[in-house]
Amino acid sequence: MGLSERVKRNVDLSYTEGRIPVSYVYTYGLGMEKFFRAIKEKGDLLAGRCPECGAVYFPCRIFCERCFSEIPRTFKVSGEGTVYSYTVCHLDVDGSPKKEPDVVGLIEVDGTDGAKFVHFIDAKPDKVTIGRKVKPVLKVKKDRKGGIFDIKGFRQV
Ligand SMILES: [Zn+2]
Repeated sequence: MGLSERVKRNVDLSYTEGRIPVSYVYTYGLGMEKFFRAIKEKGDLLAGRCPECGAVYFPCRIFCERCFSEIPRTFKVSGEGTVYSYTVCHLDVDGSPKKEPDVVGLIEVDGTDGAKFVHFIDAKPDKVTIGRKVKPVLKVKKDRKGGIFDIKGFRQV
């Protein structure tokens, strides 16, 4: 198959295993750094409200995605919310079967706008229910590194 040919069947795809050495620095940016620092140091979850249009962002942002206004202040939210939708993952990212299925989904965090993609913990797939309340579970302080995995996941309450 040449580079200009279009793949019409996924079975025609192949891959090669190997390693490509890449060094990089990834920065969260000012807004997300503040968000992750608050989790790491205090266990706080921060949101931000646009002073112009009132949109509430979780995680906090420094600029509004709707009206581009600056969002100068943040406030603490519980992170509790409601299951908006979910799916059960039986396959791993490489297509192999998982030992136990994972449940991931969208939740609406109380007091914020939009739904967030989350990982459910201790959730049996047949027990997850749309509309049910959830709460975040953080790692213990000594294990937090200042990143997204400081949030272990969300648990139904
Ligand atoms: Zn705005």
